[in-house]
Amino acid sequence: MSLYESELDANGAGTVQSNADAREESLRMVSASPINGEPVSDEELRPSGLDEFIGQPRLKAQMKLFLNAAIKRGVAPDHILLAGPPGLGKTTLAMIVAHELETPIRITSGPAIQHAGDLASILSSLEEGEVLFIDEIHRLPRPAEELLYIAMEDFRVDVVVGKGPGASSIPLTLPRFTVVGATTREGMLPSPLRARFGFTAHLDFYPRDEMRRLILRSATVLGVSIDEDAADQLARRSRGTPRIANRLLRRVRDWAVVHDLDHVDIDAVTQALDLYQIDTEGLDRLDMAVLKAICGSFNGGPVGLNNLAAMVGEESETVETVCEPYLVREGFMVRTPKGRVATLKAWRHLNLRPPEGAEPSF
Ligand code: ADP
Repeated sequence: MSLYESELDANGAGTVQSNADAREESLRMVSASPINGEPVSDEELRPSGLDEFIGQPRLKAQMKLFLNAAIKRGVAPDHILLAGPPGLGKTTLAMIVAHELETPIRITSGPAIQHAGDLASILSSLEEGEVLFIDEIHRLPRPAEELLYIAMEDFRVDVVVGKGPGASSIPLTLPRFTVVGATTREGMLPSPLRARFGFTAHLDFYPRDEMRRLILRSATVLGVSIDEDAADQLARRSRGTPRIANRLLRRVRDWAVVHDLDHVDIDAVTQALDLYQIDTEGLDRLDMAVLKAICGSFNGGPVGLNNLAAMVGEESETVETVCEPYLVREGFMVRTPKGRVATLKAWRHLNLRPPEGAEPSF
């Protein structure tokens, strides 16, 4: 049995409470990526114009200026790169760009394009001014990437006709279009590709007051009546990520429906999210298991990733990509050259007494 399936007592000793289903469920509930069956970008809740897009005020102001200038000049704007973690609104913004420009949008993604020819056929069918959204652009295969450089810069694709030594390439002129690329791994983008974007926007996690406003807006769209402090409680548990907030709001709505509540108050939010084991800091069972392992079994660390993952019965990659970014960002854990270390905040959150010299939280 892994620590993930156990609860620790005050001394850090494990007691059995196996519940693999709950683990799966709670893990998915705080996933910033869409989970099984969930639409990538929730049509119902997606804001259609820039004015409806909540938060990120500086980015919005920059984008407004950039788009308005292109509209006034009557040209397609420069290519746009949207970078940031999943669930923060990159797809939504791409659609907003097309909406504001009043042009159609073509949607594809790096992994969907297997050959350069796939991209060439999309490019050659674009209309004047159209937006081409390429999600996960860092995952484009190299030949497609090279074809894209030329298309973005010279609005041209070279179509290869024939095979072998007799093959020739015919340049095909493309209409002016705008690529909107989205990436969760900006560092993986080759610099020639990055250099072809005239506007780069970095999306960041949303602060709590923006999350609260976002939840209030989503509640209005869904027809859910919710108190300000209930929305605030939901905001607190949503990890600064709109996709998670919208998912949790729907689960809270389920709770209200089943309990015949015509209004969501803070008790409803607390009870519904406690059921899904998402605590007041937005930590789920796996996050808690990781902290309990570091404090309970390794006296606060440092502990290596593989040991930690083995202790909680998860793949190292899951611990590294699913839990750690949030735990580090929220100051529950620090990464040191010797391994992962729990901070004072983690000890306090677990209601455990920290050892002498425990790592202070920032
Ligand atoms: P990404 O492409 O970065 O993974 P999405 O654009 O798909 O994220 O956003 C996830 C969901 O969150 C969307 O369905 C949208 O409804 C909502 N959302 C994201 N950002 C905002 C925002 N700033 N204001 C309102 N809703 C948002």
